[in-house]
Amino acid sequence: MNKKIIQVTKTSLPPIEGYIEQLKEIWESAWISNMGPKHNELQTKLKEYLHVPHLSLFSNGHMALELLIQAMGLTGEIITTPFTFASTTHAIVRNGCVPVFCDIKKEDYTIDAGKIENLITPRTSAILPVHVYGNICDVEKIEQIAQKYHLKVLYDAAHTFGEEYRGKGIGSYGDAAMFSFHATKVFHTIEGGAIAYKEEWIGRKLYQLKNFGIKDAETVDGIGANAKMNEFQAIMGLCNLKYIDAEIEKRRSIADRYFRNLNGVKGIVLNRVREEVKSNYAYFPVLFDPELFGHNRDDVYERLKKQNIYARKYFYPLTNEYDCYRGRFDSEKTPVAREVSHQILTLPLFADLKFEDVDRICSIILEGR
Ligand SMILES: *Cc1c(COP(=O)(O)O)cnc(C)c1O
Repeated sequence: MNKKIIQVTKTSLPPIEGYIEQLKEIWESAWISNMGPKHNELQTKLKEYLHVPHLSLFSNGHMALELLIQAMGLTGEIITTPFTFASTTHAIVRNGCVPVFCDIKKEDYTIDAGKIENLITPRTSAILPVHVYGNICDVEKIEQIAQKYHLKVLYDAAHTFGEEYRGKGIGSYGDAAMFSFHATKVFHTIEGGAIAYKEEWIGRKLYQLKNFGIKDAETVDGIGANAKMNEFQAIMGLCNLKYIDAEIEKRRSIADRYFRNLNGVKGIVLNRVREEVKSNYAYFPVLFDPELFGHNRDDVYERLKKQNIYARKYFYPLTNEYDCYRGRFDSEKTPVAREVSHQILTLPLFADLKFEDVDRICSIILEGR
């Protein structure tokens, strides 16, 4: 047996010398948090890289999303999906709003925009869809619905760092979009996140809310939190940004290798990058149809685990099935999401994963069919 442990992801770190260089600058200025020069430099560079109108940095993606909902003044019901990370649903509930779960599409696991209108009530204030695995939601249709019913649109774009759709940065769709820069994401600042937003007033609100609601030295007019990105996070981002295109290219070649090994196998459904999308290859989800493949997702997961390969049941369980929400939601109402959550497995994918490991992972998946 091969003893080497392969996790589903591995954090990319920049050459240490570059980080140390930047550390020295921080030491000289002794400015280590509160929107320092490194924070501002990263904010400017990321705004350009992401092709978004405005950007505000945060200590992490979750706080960015939570404070965005507060900044937009949302109340009542927010239409979202349960096929996501805990953060999306928790951010809604922690703002005192009610998540209304819309089902997802079988083809790309994003919100089924055709089912949104049926869920709109007089209490609906916004739509909060997720660009799952880097797959872009049906942004045009969502925009149409939002305009018709005067709803805000906030995207959970945690998976879509650097992606473009029809030549525009993905963060420029909707009223605002949240990016996560957590260590496990395509681009990271150790922990970190950002909101890309359309209108300036959103930025002013966000700036206050991530700094206790302070407006000026003697005015506090928002009930804010503390979610500022510090200088050590910012320099990690500045270092990582230098290598991001090469990182994404490596991910592309690994995804391509998986594709060649698994494409066309009966009962296996692979994720496809849609036309007009510049992808970041953040994840490699594989759907196993137990009838056609002969084994279910959990069998494959266990078989890999026995060989020290840790794929991930991402996303399982659905957020509307969490223990903390027991009795409040019903996952029977999102049957596609429910089925997908039982059939999907994300395979290891990170920039320095070796082709031979990809081949080995695929042969373990395919053996014993
Ligand atoms: C990672 C992630 C988040 C939260 O981001 P953090 O930076 O870890 O707080 C939110 N939504 C989704 C879909 C994510 O994958």
